[in-house]
Amino acid sequence: MVKTWRELEDIQPKVMKMIENSLNKGRISHAYLFEGGRGTGKKDVSFQMAKSLFCTNRDGAKPCSTCSNCRRIESQNHPDVHFISPEGQSIKKEQIQYLQAEFQRTGVESRKKLYIIEHVNKMTPNAANSLLKFLEEPHADTYAILLTEQVHQLLDTIVSRCQVLSFQPLTPQVLVDTLVEHSVSPSTAQLLSHLTNSLEEALQLNEDEWFGLARKLVIKLNETLVTRPEQALFFIQEEWISHFKDKEQYEKGLHLLLLLYRDLVQLQADNEQTIAFIGYREQLKKQALQTTQRKSVQRLEAVLKAKQKLSSNMNPQLLIEELVLELQEG
Ligand SMILES: [Zn+2]
Repeated sequence: MVKTWRELEDIQPKVMKMIENSLNKGRISHAYLFEGGRGTGKKDVSFQMAKSLFCTNRDGAKPCSTCSNCRRIESQNHPDVHFISPEGQSIKKEQIQYLQAEFQRTGVESRKKLYIIEHVNKMTPNAANSLLKFLEEPHADTYAILLTEQVHQLLDTIVSRCQVLSFQPLTPQVLVDTLVEHSVSPSTAQLLSHLTNSLEEALQLNEDEWFGLARKLVIKLNETLVTRPEQALFFIQEEWISHFKDKEQYEKGLHLLLLLYRDLVQLQADNEQTIAFIGYREQLKKQALQTTQRKSVQRLEAVLKAKQKLSSNMNPQLLIEELVLELQEG
């Protein structure tokens, strides 16, 4: 669903403020480059900006969203607003040439014309050269908005002809809401928002079977340490080591364990709002009552120390065994 101007102000306050100022002062650049991670609102902002440029009933900088221009832009049906995205793997020269031909005719309804190109880094070299020529000879009433997640892949000559607006990574709450919109369960979304601020990475982790099992094993390790601590090393030998193989996987495992102990400390401080493992909250609450906050903090510190040792290249298997011995002592 396309986000409203108001919603976009929450997600990208700086970008929206700049666009609002430019629109209000009538100082619109001929070419914008919106760069930032997936899900940060680049496409939605480009459509809102397009509507503002063409709206016949604008309120300050905000488009009305109901006039004929606004509605036709929203349904990608406006004769003077063109939206281009890769055909297959790339944006081809013909797509840019088609655009140029369209723009050489005078505006069908107004003189103003706008094109939006999504994933602009995926242009073939020929397409990039055509676009560059186009940007070099701006027609008075022609505007471009280029969108990319990979600004470093673009020709410097293209970047230098655009006003670059950088889109910020999503805040944890916006990331949770966006993940839930992508059909991720609320409890998983909450956990993922503690691991990354990239929508792309969060969606990948959500699909990743290895990660799903890693999460279960971390919970199981904690349960073993609570209910049968003498079995914890056995659990590591039998279940953990066959799943966690390299340093990167250990980093993820330790990060999850760290979040779990952090949750425990939060619950002991009566702070339920920010916990990561909400699907495991009731068990953690019981555990929080059975131990002291000081011990939970000690465990948290033990995991942090293990993470540091891992980055200084200690053998991961030795490291997890050493850590478990320390957590056993509680
Ligand atoms: Zn309108």
